[in-house]
Amino acid sequence: MARPVPQCPIRLGEPCSLCEPGVTGPEDCGLVWLVMNDPDLRARLAELRREQRL
Ligand code: SF4
Repeated sequence: MARPVPQCPIRLGEPCSLCEPGVTGPEDCGLVWLVMNDPDLRARLAELRREQRL
């Protein structure tokens, strides 16, 4: 049975398309790691999430 496709935490509203070479999903995605470990980028992402919910 196919697993549900995980959502990309960065491309809001889109499933993870494995756009980063060598990743198996958002769990080991380097881009997600970078964004989550950068306070400015993380804040901006939270802002975008809030805007999307309006
Ligand atoms: S590989 Fe990373 S950046 Fe690309 S879609 Fe998946 S989670 Fe998002």
